[in-house]
Amino acid sequence: MTTENNGAFPTIKCPHCGREVPPAKLCPYCGQYLPKRKKAAWKMPKMTPAEIFLAILGTIVLAVALVAL
Ligand SMILES: [Zn+2]
Repeated sequence: MTTENNGAFPTIKCPHCGREVPPAKLCPYCGQYLPKRKKAAWKMPKMTPAEIFLAILGTIVLAVALVAL
């Protein structure tokens, strides 16, 4: 097994010493605090306001159609 990096352990670059380190609270090389990884970016798929409006409109139309039947 010679797989070095298959994407299972994404590394980040330490802003203090510039080395590739595993995502942790502290850098294992220089001991400085590492910047927090952004988590909010993956919470929701990116939608434009027009797409959100159309999605809401579609839901309302569907609800009205179900009520009318
Ligand atoms: Zn470091």
